[in-house]
Amino acid sequence: MIESKSFEELIEQYRDIIDDVSFPTVKEWKSKHAGGKVVGMFPVYTPLELPHAMGMLPVGLFGAGGRVEIDHADSRIQSFVCSIARSTLELGLRDMTKDFDVLWFPSICDVARNLSGIWSSNFPNQQVSYIHFPQNMTSPAAITHYRTELRRLLSNLEELDGKKATGAAIVSSIQAYNQNRALCEQLYAIKRDTPWLLSTYEAYVLLRLATMTPVEEHTRILQDILPMIATRNRKPRDYVRVMIEGSFCEQPPLELIQVIEEAGCYIVDDDLLMHTRWFHGDVMTNGDPLLALAESYIHQSRYSSVRHYGNKPRKEQFVQKIRAGKVDGVIFNAPKFCEPALLDYVVLKDELEKQGIAYLAFEYEEKMGVFESIRTQVETFVESVLFFS
Ligand code: SF4
Repeated sequence: MIESKSFEELIEQYRDIIDDVSFPTVKEWKSKHAGGKVVGMFPVYTPLELPHAMGMLPVGLFGAGGRVEIDHADSRIQSFVCSIARSTLELGLRDMTKDFDVLWFPSICDVARNLSGIWSSNFPNQQVSYIHFPQNMTSPAAITHYRTELRRLLSNLEELDGKKATGAAIVSSIQAYNQNRALCEQLYAIKRDTPWLLSTYEAYVLLRLATMTPVEEHTRILQDILPMIATRNRKPRDYVRVMIEGSFCEQPPLELIQVIEEAGCYIVDDDLLMHTRWFHGDVMTNGDPLLALAESYIHQSRYSSVRHYGNKPRKEQFVQKIRAGKVDGVIFNAPKFCEPALLDYVVLKDELEKQGIAYLAFEYEEKMGVFESIRTQVETFVESVLFFS
C-alpha cells in the first residue's frame, strides 16, 4: 500500500518494476483482462490514446537497458546501430515480447524504419504498423495527413479486436492522458523550481512507470506521491542548474543520471521519456478527437531531433527552454550511433557558443558499466560553470 511506505521506499519499489525486462505489469494486466490486447510502442510520439480507447494497454518499448546479452539480434540488424534497436529486437527473439499483440514503430529515423520491417518478417503473429508522421509541418495538408494516419492505426486495432472505438471512448482517453500529463508536468515544475526536493533519478523512475502501467493507475500513483514530495526535508545545495539534451529516444543508464547529479548538478530540464509528455498542455476534447490529436502533434508537441519543426527552428526552441529553466549549462547526452541526436548536436552546440552558454557532451550505450570518467568530466564542468558565473 502506498500510504504505508516512504517516498524513498516507493521509488525503490518502482525501480525494481522498471528494471524487470520480463514486463511484469503487462503480465499482470493480461491476467486481469482475458483476451485483452497489448500494444508495444517504440519511441517517440506514439499516440497512446488510440489503444487506450480500444480498451488495450499501450506499453513503451525502450530496449533492454543492458540487462540482456545481444546473442541473436546481430544476425538480423547491423551491430553499428543504437542499443535500443538491437536490444528491443533481442527481447523479441528471446520470446520476451510474446505478450505484445501489436507493435508500432514511428517514422523517426532509418533505424526505426528498418526495425519495423525486420519485426514484420520475424514475428508474423504480431500486428506491426509503421507510423508516417507529417514531414512538412507548415503544409495545410499536414493535419489532414496525420489524422488519416491515426484513423488507419485505429482501424488496424479495430480489425484485430473485432470491434469499433467510439468517438466518446477516444475523447475519454484523451481526457485520461490530459490529466496524467498535467501531473507529469507538476513533477517537472518541482524539478525546475525546487530541484533539491526531487532528483531527476526519482522523477525518471516515476515517469518510466507510466510507460508500462495503465494510465489511470499511474495517475493515482502521482496523485498520492506528489504531496509526499512537498514534505521532504531536503535543503538546497550549491549545485549548478543543467539541462540534458539528446536522450529523447534510447534512454541512458539510470546510473549515468545519478552520476551527473552526484557530481553537483540539478538537472532542471531534459528530453528524457517523451512517451507520455510529448504535448504541451491539453489536447482539445471538443469536436473530432482524431483531428484534435493531429492538431496537437503539429502545434503542441515538444521539439526533438526526430520531429520536423515547421516555422520555429529547433535551436530557437532549445534556447527558449534553456532560458525558461534558468539553466547554467547544457549536457549533451546522446546514444551512440543515434544519427538524429548527433547531427543536431552540431547545430545546437554552435548556438550555445553564440549565446555564451557552457556545455559538455558525451555518448552512452545500454551496456555501459563504468561511469568514473564521466563523473570526472561533469565535476570539472561544474567547477568551470561555478568559476565563470
Ligand atoms: S536512438 Fe536514435 S537512431 Fe536509434 S532508433 Fe532512436 S532516434 Fe533512431
